[in-house]
Amino acid sequence: MKRRNFNKTFATSIAGLTLSNNLFSNNDKKNKLGVALVGLGSYSKNALGPALTETKLCKLSAVVTGSIEKHDYWKKQYGLKDSQIYNYENFNSIAENDEIDIVYIVLPNNMHKEFSIKALECGKHVICEKPMAMNAVEAEEMIKVSKKVKKDLFIGYRLHYDPYHLECIKYCKNETFGKLNVVLAEFGYGISNNNHWKLKKSYGGGALMDVGIYAIQAARYCTGEEPISLSAKEYKTNSKKFNEVDDTIVWQMEFSNGKVANCATSFSASMNNLHLGFEKGFAKLHPAYTWRKVSGYTSKKQLTFPMINQQAYHMDGIANYLINKVPHNNVGGEEGLKDMIIIDKIFESINKNSNTVLL
Ligand code: NAD
Repeated sequence: MKRRNFNKTFATSIAGLTLSNNLFSNNDKKNKLGVALVGLGSYSKNALGPALTETKLCKLSAVVTGSIEKHDYWKKQYGLKDSQIYNYENFNSIAENDEIDIVYIVLPNNMHKEFSIKALECGKHVICEKPMAMNAVEAEEMIKVSKKVKKDLFIGYRLHYDPYHLECIKYCKNETFGKLNVVLAEFGYGISNNNHWKLKKSYGGGALMDVGIYAIQAARYCTGEEPISLSAKEYKTNSKKFNEVDDTIVWQMEFSNGKVANCATSFSASMNNLHLGFEKGFAKLHPAYTWRKVSGYTSKKQLTFPMINQQAYHMDGIANYLINKVPHNNVGGEEGLKDMIIIDKIFESINKNSNTVLL
């Protein structure tokens, strides 16, 4: 990476984590890192593409898609040329394109490992969507390749750049309301498309992999610890949709000194909460995990942060790390691996009839 010597003062710090803001004045397209989006489904179309029009340090420089019918939309919407559109057969030729610095994997979960590794081996940094892989073994393989080829691997943990979540982390670190003792974290929705890959086991479907991971994340970044043990139970409605994958899972994670996180996820119930129970007060986010407007309050006050584009801040935070070595907000592959270890243990506990498993 040649170019860039940007203004390093653009980041504000909350709890030691950075929230890049719009003070950043780089609008020079040539100096931005080029991002290639791989997989042009709903998240790329509705969130990442638009975010890349707001980023200060990144720009959309290519897409990878197997669907010719999507070409026109991406060409018109983002001014891409034919030469900037790749498919899965010529994927490896991105290696020759110097305009691509970061490859962003936005594919079904079972394809994350394969395409992250391919992109790393093409000499590109990678952002991989959550969950980073099908299990911890795959996640470890990805990290190993990233180290071997000396290219960075990041995970699409956008909430690490959201001001509401950063504020909650600050309360926990600073003990603003005393010690944190209980975390309640729930994320679920009623999945409507019966044919979605998220209902297929071989694709890495299921509520836990899709949205339960946000509850694991919240419990981990608020306590600032890894759980010591957990127990989990699965509940199934009688809908045939859930023949292959988990529907509702409720689990409990124990941390040091009696701290506990009670978590739930579901594909048949709408939930979107984070409650932090401190000795002398509480903080509550609802909706907590949305990429639109998070909202919340504490036992003392309403929280009123302006709405930000989480994806733009997340990608700029990563670019600022790659360009200026300003630490990113803990969105590296190792962070993704820690979640995969817990996901594996949740399934292990379910398979052992909700027995407590040690981590
Ligand atoms: P989607 O189904 O809308 O998009 C997936 C894309 O992959 C589609 O364009 C599809 O054509 C393409 N694809 C390529 N090969 C495929 C194959 N063999 N089978 C099926 N599809 C194939 O899914 P999505 O909601 O965009 O999710 C993609 C990834 O992004 C998932 O890992 C998901 O967890 C993640 N995601 C993250 C967030 C977030 O807030 N961070 C939000 C939504 C999705």
